[in-house]
Amino acid sequence: MKDKLFDLEGKVAALTGAGGVLISMMAKELAARGAKIAVLDLVPEAAQKVADEIKAAGGQALALACNALDKPSIEVACATIVKEWGRVDILVNGAGGNNKKATTSPELSFFDMPADALRFVMDLNLLGTIFPCQVFGKLMAQQKSGVIINTSSMNSFRPLTRIIGYSAAKAAINNVTQWLAVHMAQTYSPNIRVNAIAPGFFETLQNKFLLRDEKTGELTARGNQIVSHTPAGRFGTPEDLLGALVWLVSPSASFVSGIVVPVDGGFSAYSGV
Ligand code: NAD
Repeated sequence: MKDKLFDLEGKVAALTGAGGVLISMMAKELAARGAKIAVLDLVPEAAQKVADEIKAAGGQALALACNALDKPSIEVACATIVKEWGRVDILVNGAGGNNKKATTSPELSFFDMPADALRFVMDLNLLGTIFPCQVFGKLMAQQKSGVIINTSSMNSFRPLTRIIGYSAAKAAINNVTQWLAVHMAQTYSPNIRVNAIAPGFFETLQNKFLLRDEKTGELTARGNQIVSHTPAGRFGTPEDLLGALVWLVSPSASFVSGIVVPVDGGFSAYSGV
């Protein structure tokens, strides 16, 4: 029996930052469920690699170089997808990340943090989410349907130490998710939904320098602190995000909009005692 609740067959999905660790896994999962995938990334080779892997597995994919901070670049990507597949049903805003120079350390105090590093992190995470929402949201408004998934972080609920710009930008993404959910439904169509996923700690390139000793590969004090504060007792794996993603983009979540779903092994719920 076809599972109508989670049916994504023939849907068109565009994912930004899809050349990266977490979002490439999401792209592959949606492809495996029959969606046509536009793999958008700042780095064309990264996008191409993921698109090739999807195609090799029997899926449909299009690799597109796209800077989530540059509206004309997003507009070109969106127009290319529409030319190829006629519409966009799903947008996953995955482009984001932190920067070492926007992270306090024994060598860098909060007071000395360079303005351009802070601006980079705020822009990449916040505007890098808002700009694609403007471009693809306009198309969804015309279609009178669509689903947007933003990528928040568990540090949006309570900030983590050291990463001030990243925490602030992800908190803003939660606010934008709620704002846009209301705006799109009231102004354009209740069939446009906007939600966010807040991953907990996943060991990836952007945070490796904080979690593991560069030389030994052992967990840092911070890495140990995180695992002991995670009731699940481990870091997440990219596969851990897929259930929440499939639920939120599928018909099973047709009455779900404006929420932020933590996928963090219980980290945000744990007071530490
Ligand atoms: P990643 O660094 O593996 O991938 C990010 C991808 O985004 C890269 O392929 C990069 O080329 C691309 N990118 C960077 N700037 C871009 C831009 N301006 N336009 C388009 N693409 C751009 O990161 P990841 O760990 O897969 O993270 C994906 C998302 O999940 C990010 O938003 C991140 O903040 C969020 N997140 C990650 C974690 C974690 O533990 N890794 C936790 C919470 C949230």
